[in-house]
Amino acid sequence: MSEALDTLTKNQQTVLDILESAKEPLKAYAILFDTQKKGIKAPLQVYRALDKLIEIGKVHKIESKNSYIACKHKSCDAGTSTSFLICEICDLVTELKKNVSSYFSKQSAEVNFSYSKHNLEIYGICNNCKINN
Ligand SMILES: [Zn+2]
Ligand SMILES: [Zn+2]
Repeated sequence: MSEALDTLTKNQQTVLDILESAKEPLKAYAILFDTQKKGIKAPLQVYRALDKLIEIGKVHKIESKNSYIACKHKSCDAGTSTSFLICEICDLVTELKKNVSSYFSKQSAEVNFSYSKHNLEIYGICNNCKINN
């Protein structure tokens, strides 16, 4: 039954295509602008598609930037938890492959805290900026 999970609606596919071809994370208004050109007129339809894409792990939200990025990993389990490396110079965003949920879950348990999810943003300098600076 995995086929049903992989099947995106036309709106979801349109939004995903826009994010996949974007070079950087997009804010909602930028996505709306592009989807309107492709015939999705109602913002609500775009937000619904985004919500669903986030839920199934195809798209992640970068909270501090209030923007969205398509997941580049094959089967991302980061439906709710995300870990991003963000370059302080060029704003390049890279998603960490390894899921660190179990680490946080253990750390939390030690202080009797029930871990549910995390949105991690790690700042530094990307390889490109290291070479060019
Ligand atoms: Zn991902
Ligand atoms: Zn950089």
